[in-house]
Amino acid sequence: MSVVNELTDKKGGVINKILELKNFIGGKFVDSVSGKRFESKYPATNEVIATVPESGKEDVELAVKSAVEAFKVWSKMPVKERSKYLMRISELIMNKLDELSYLESIDVGKPIKLAKGMEVPRASYNFSFFAEFAKYVHTEFYETDDRGAINYVLRRPVGVAGLITPWNLPLLLTTWKVAPCLAAVNTCIIKPSELTPITATKLAEIAAEAGLPDGVLNVVHGFGPNSAGEFIVSHPDVKLISLTGETTTGQAIMRAASQHLKKLSFELGGKNPNIIFADADIEQALDVTIQSSFSNQGEVCLCGSRIYVERKIYDEFVEKLVERAKRVKVGDPLDPETDMGALISEEHLHKVRTYLEIAVADGGKILTGGKTPEHLPEKFKSGNWLEPTVIVGLNDNCRVVKEEIFGPVVTVSPFDAEEEVIERANNTHYGLSATIWTRDLARAHRVAAQIEAGVIWINTWFLRDLRTPFGGMKMSGIGREGGIYSFEFYTELKNVCIKL
Ligand code: NAD
Repeated sequence: MSVVNELTDKKGGVINKILELKNFIGGKFVDSVSGKRFESKYPATNEVIATVPESGKEDVELAVKSAVEAFKVWSKMPVKERSKYLMRISELIMNKLDELSYLESIDVGKPIKLAKGMEVPRASYNFSFFAEFAKYVHTEFYETDDRGAINYVLRRPVGVAGLITPWNLPLLLTTWKVAPCLAAVNTCIIKPSELTPITATKLAEIAAEAGLPDGVLNVVHGFGPNSAGEFIVSHPDVKLISLTGETTTGQAIMRAASQHLKKLSFELGGKNPNIIFADADIEQALDVTIQSSFSNQGEVCLCGSRIYVERKIYDEFVEKLVERAKRVKVGDPLDPETDMGALISEEHLHKVRTYLEIAVADGGKILTGGKTPEHLPEKFKSGNWLEPTVIVGLNDNCRVVKEEIFGPVVTVSPFDAEEEVIERANNTHYGLSATIWTRDLARAHRVAAQIEAGVIWINTWFLRDLRTPFGGMKMSGIGREGGIYSFEFYTELKNVCIKL
């Protein structure tokens, strides 16, 4: 019986099968050495859906050993063969679209529509993209002016990578690291978020089914500080660390990794401006703004949570935004019609609600949302729910406008001039992404050039081409991922100079 069937064998809508997850080390599913376990919950109800190994130093040590051994095999394999494994994993992910979407939905509390329509297919594409990409990566060659010497560049893998992932888009973001890491000939240890451990375990099953050599991909479950995450970061044989997570986690990891001067790639938090000029296609801007505000419960690093609207259209825009926010279908994550599910945990819901209190205390007005949805069925009463929330009337220095909330909460404020909105958009220590809505192409280019963010969208949002550089400026990250940029991180370059 598949995991989906087991889990959906339920009474009265309550999930009654608890998954017993394992670590995946050296091609085997194993418990933690200590035998300790922790629980993972379904955010819509806060029922326990899985128990998870709480790994410590010994588990990390075993995983590192197996990844070091596997590197010897993996790095000798021809690229054609390695790519076949990655392609097979890509196919298997798509073959298991229903199962993976279901698991992602119950693990994160997200609408199954999102998991099935975007995240799982993208996880599959991450593998097929890098399987192909690996075959065509080239390096440079330089001839000196006097033709007295030539230089050529060798590209080499780094070794064992620690891949540390967050809870919001677990499979998409894990595969976004694993695929280029393996394509660039490294081996890896994945440390999934303690809040969403299921699909990384499933990815390990898929890797085994694809016949990936033992130890090339390892999964070690556990927490961050003083747990599996930290032990991976501080292990001398783990040569590079890729983290997607909070800015403060990036800072902690940077400190711990400094001892061995590891290569670091950080995709961190964001507080992204969504700028709407009066000449924009308002209906299109509204439709996409609903997505960029409330998609995945607003728990997307790229969400445009600071909305700036040109004063001429401010009232009309706000009225229509509120009307549309009220129409967002919040409810059962497993209902294919649902637009927005539950927040990841009680603790996170509490944090988001605290920001709403701050907003009101600072003179903000909640135009819609801010409460638990009233219509939820009884079985969801103990879950972590919040309506899509739109706040106005805050000044730019309010914490609600400056800090990442990572929930279904947006602030809207008017602006008068282009230079003004650029300055206000940049008035944050984050610099991940920005969205600009205008029909004036010259203005779009002008503003895009001046906004301090690594990813800029004009008249769209979340549109990704995997060849392009992805990542944040300022406190939103270090380095870029995507296409050759991922390869730059996951490889070392070596220049060879020949005197002729
Ligand atoms: P988090 O930083 O709390 O956790 C991320 C991962 O780091 C988890 O696996 C956690 O166990 C681990 N970790 C925590 N402390 C650690 C330590 N000291 N050493 C080693 N590992 C440690 O982040 P989260 O709450 O899971 O995710 C939400 C955050 O991720 C938000 O800030 C969001 O903006 C960010 N994010 C960024 C991007 C991006 O592409 N820039 C994408 C998604 C999420």
